[in-house]
Amino acid sequence: MTATSSPGTSRADVAVIGGSGFYSFFDEGAAEVTIDTPYGAPSAPITVGDVEGRRVAFLPRHGAQHEFAPHTIPYRANLWALRMLGVRRVFAPCAAGSLTTDLGPGAMVVPDQLVDRTSGRTQTFFDGGGVHVQFADPYCADLRKAASRPGTVEDGVLVVVEGPRFSTRAESAWFARQGWTLVNMTGHPEAVLARELEMCYATIALVTDLDAGIEAGTGVRAVDVFAEFQRNLESLKTLVRSAIAAAPEGPCEACRVHEGVTLPIELP
Ligand SMILES: [Zn+2]
Repeated sequence: MTATSSPGTSRADVAVIGGSGFYSFFDEGAAEVTIDTPYGAPSAPITVGDVEGRRVAFLPRHGAQHEFAPHTIPYRANLWALRMLGVRRVFAPCAAGSLTTDLGPGAMVVPDQLVDRTSGRTQTFFDGGGVHVQFADPYCADLRKAASRPGTVEDGVLVVVEGPRFSTRAESAWFARQGWTLVNMTGHPEAVLARELEMCYATIALVTDLDAGIEAGTGVRAVDVFAEFQRNLESLKTLVRSAIAAAPEGPCEACRVHEGVTLPIELP
């Protein structure tokens, strides 16, 4: 990182919301942008620079020092700040537990569906007015295609739990019985807030563990999750880099959901 700059001079069209390992992602000359939003400050200053010929904004979801737990992440500020920079496409790499023995640690999955099991998180920008956003398909099909590469699993159901505790064995077994594929704590409300701001959004999940329901032994431990994530970080970064290069430019009709609707707030 070489400089700081103001939101007015830094623009980006693609964003990555991920772990702090992505700081090393940029070509020379990336700059840090400090932004405030009507919803407070985002998790950290945003780094803007060039990746694969695209202008990319990177935001560490948990903060620069990993100071935010999944349930305290300022999700609304994060998405709003990215949109203020001009971002219309968001890739969201994350760690996830697997609910099936078909997917072991190290597998990379681009989910096509989401189940929200969080509670108490604010999951809308629209506190007034009759705005009900389309969310049947929570992820942008174009971005999912851009993130799908040989070796990645091209669909799956991500169930997002409140955390910060891991699931009990009974919860995990129940999720697996529903046919759901992965479990994590940060995939929502990020996805719906992106949709409300008409930003294309896709998750790229790295499996770090077999969740409690299918694991014999002690259950999931945070130390093992972090270690497995670090082990696969370079592969994940390579995948995100190729996804950025393949991300379409120009408007995405499927993620433009407010056509003809008068919104109670003005989007940035
Ligand atoms: Zn889209």
